[in-house]
Amino acid sequence: MSKPLLKVQGLKTYFFLERGVVKAVDGVDFEIKKGEIFGVVGETGCGKSVTALSILRLVQSPPGKIVEGKIIFEGENLLKKSKERMRKIRGTKISMIFQDPHTSLDPVFTVGHQIAEPIELHQVIEQHLISADEVPKKVIEMLKLVKIPDPEHRVVEYPHQFSGGMKQRTMIAMMLSCNPSLLIADEPTTAVDVTIQAQILDLMRELRRKLGTSILIITHNLGVIAEMCDRVAVMYAGNIVEQADIMTLFESPKHPYTRALLAAVPKVGAKKGELESITGMVPSLITPPPGCKFHPRCPHAMDICRKKFPQMIKIGKEHLVSCHLYSGGAKK
Ligand code: SF4
Repeated sequence: MSKPLLKVQGLKTYFFLERGVVKAVDGVDFEIKKGEIFGVVGETGCGKSVTALSILRLVQSPPGKIVEGKIIFEGENLLKKSKERMRKIRGTKISMIFQDPHTSLDPVFTVGHQIAEPIELHQVIEQHLISADEVPKKVIEMLKLVKIPDPEHRVVEYPHQFSGGMKQRTMIAMMLSCNPSLLIADEPTTAVDVTIQAQILDLMRELRRKLGTSILIITHNLGVIAEMCDRVAVMYAGNIVEQADIMTLFESPKHPYTRALLAAVPKVGAKKGELESITGMVPSLITPPPGCKFHPRCPHAMDICRKKFPQMIKIGKEHLVSCHLYSGGAKK
């Protein structure tokens, strides 16, 4: 687990609206290694989902546009690829699981039909990897892989006959049917209850172990990050503010926003009133505060924070932070 599979460099994705330019992703850098589970965490509207959509070149244009940066996947810049090439990459090399399986599956087709579709298009027609006769067998195999009970019979059922967890597992089967090297999961467990959430997370871990798939998890849920990820990036108002391996981030968070996020997680046994909230509001992405975008909410804000954007600096082997508290080497 060492070579980068994906390198995102200086990514900027803006939305050009009548009321102004929304800088949803404003200079993001990270990489995902082969076989790694990497998490991006942050509040709603911080730019994490737009980052994922940018990787797949699925940002709605207009009004959205990737205005700067590189997305290097398997050594090639995805931003230089034609639309047709990107469509093939999305079907075969990078797949995405969306938040809500209820709206992602088509109610008028059987689950078997929906899993078969990408297999027929990519593996039979485009790549000639299998014959059309082998597709039904492959569909059953995929349902088995994601642990749908009695797959031979359930393959002819419709989405409404499946529970929420089974629908999400069906989505995962569809996305994995062409053996992608990168799976992007955007809030994969938000629409399911906690027991199903545990099953989905277990399944994704097992798939990484069995198939070596790299996974990018986008979530607001630090519990999901703690359970799943090898490394994590914390996003705030369009920027990554801290990045570290999972142990370091949870045991020794440095950025005041990361610390505030962790302090806001409910703990078992905590007394009433011990839960902290982050003061202030998420800033406007059209007219963000100057300097550090977190400064209006930061208890450690200094003069420099109101004027100068803090560059990302390395403070440990895998630990990066963008905060003036550390730029002079003074670690707090
Ligand atoms: Fe707080 Fe300043 Fe660090 Fe921003 S740069 S998080 S305002 S201390």
